[in-house]
Amino acid sequence: MNRERFISFLESVSFWEPEWLEELRSSCIERGVPVVRRDAAQLLRFLTVQTGAENILEVGTAEGYSSLLMWDASGGKVHIDTIENSERRLEKARVNLARAEGGIRLLEGDALEILPGLEGPYDLVFMDAAKGQYLNFLPEVLRLLKSGGTLVTDNTLQEGRILESRFAVERRDRTIHSRMRGYIRKLMDTPELVSTLLACGDGMLLSVKR
Ligand code: SAM
Repeated sequence: MNRERFISFLESVSFWEPEWLEELRSSCIERGVPVVRRDAAQLLRFLTVQTGAENILEVGTAEGYSSLLMWDASGGKVHIDTIENSERRLEKARVNLARAEGGIRLLEGDALEILPGLEGPYDLVFMDAAKGQYLNFLPEVLRLLKSGGTLVTDNTLQEGRILESRFAVERRDRTIHSRMRGYIRKLMDTPELVSTLLACGDGMLLSVKR
């Protein structure tokens, strides 16, 4: 199956979202601000509803597109804590997240410092920050995830580079390559989790905590 055709088909038949959210998405893309890909966003919307999550943690807000997407999917009922450390993005996120009228709490700073101070438990965690740090975030994220909760990790396939042998990727990409492979293995191997890796977005790794 041709993946590009699949994505354009998916976009042509589905993915309803309110105009204000579409505008935020387009504006982010135009300015080079990262947002979750279309098919992964649809999966996130689906999981928010399917899990009936009441408390969500997001690591990596950017300007707030994905947290607003989950908030909107829940009909404005969910509470979301979202972490961001870039001052430039925080400025925009503060304004954008005001739409959720307190439903989304923006935690400003480095996730490595903020995570240990959180209590949770969260029904759903969306991990979407610095890819090289996922393994470092993991112990705190697993502590915060409730039993039966879902961890969604984006960008695990890194445009397909993770599928290649370590020696086939550019030298500068080797560290992230081995860290991400280590992260995928860890999630697949941890007995506390049941995980599956989807060729969706840039590689969505879904894990349920037993
Ligand atoms: N989830 C967003 C969306 O789809 O709208 C996109 C998030 S973007 C891929 C990743 C974000 O994580 C960036 O804005 C980056 O500044 C932030 N980030 C990276 N490392 C971080 C860290 N250690 N602590 C907090 N935020 C971090």
